[in-house]
Amino acid sequence: MVTVTQSWDDGILDDVRLVELIRKHGAKATFNLNPGRHRLERYQGGKHKGHEVWNLSVHDVKALYRGPGLEVASHSVTHPHLERSSPGALEWELAESRKILEDWFQTPVRGFAYPFGSYNDTVKAELRRQGYAYARTVANVDTVFPPADPMEFHPSVHALNPDFWPAFERAKAANGVFYFWGHSYEILDEPMWQAFEANLARLCADPEVRWATNVELF
Ligand SMILES: [Zn+2]
Repeated sequence: MVTVTQSWDDGILDDVRLVELIRKHGAKATFNLNPGRHRLERYQGGKHKGHEVWNLSVHDVKALYRGPGLEVASHSVTHPHLERSSPGALEWELAESRKILEDWFQTPVRGFAYPFGSYNDTVKAELRRQGYAYARTVANVDTVFPPADPMEFHPSVHALNPDFWPAFERAKAANGVFYFWGHSYEILDEPMWQAFEANLARLCADPEVRWATNVELF
């Protein structure tokens, strides 16, 4: 058996298609959101390799990330480099993001993903103090579960990395956890969407795979 979990960051428009695929194939996923970056209307937040990155509206967010198999986790309020934040700002980013998400979704929020994947001991200690269950890094190493430090929960591989299937096979051989992550705006065109859907379908068709959201593991 292998437990498969995935997470996607930043709450962007391309997540609409991603959530559809997750539902269609019966997978589970965690979405790491920054409530301070959503407004009443959608807006373009930037570009990635020529692809426009649109932030979802508050209404979109509340409607999209709901239902069986979906977890909402905090990615801070405003997506700063937390290790450079003042103590007051750090406390606020962790507490306020969770409070807003719990209000929007009327469900406990216990997970965290580090903006830019960056953190230090002070950030980890504040997460622990506030009662977060885990925090995801972007280390991309074969996932050890349970992690030695839940505030350094390392994913196995980026969702679009060529090492995706070898990393999956290693996790399966170890009866372990396979954890992939990414941003849906990195899926740039139709061939990439089809390749990603084929991966998702292959995982969902595997009788050895058991899906979990991040927080279900903890
Ligand atoms: Zn992010």
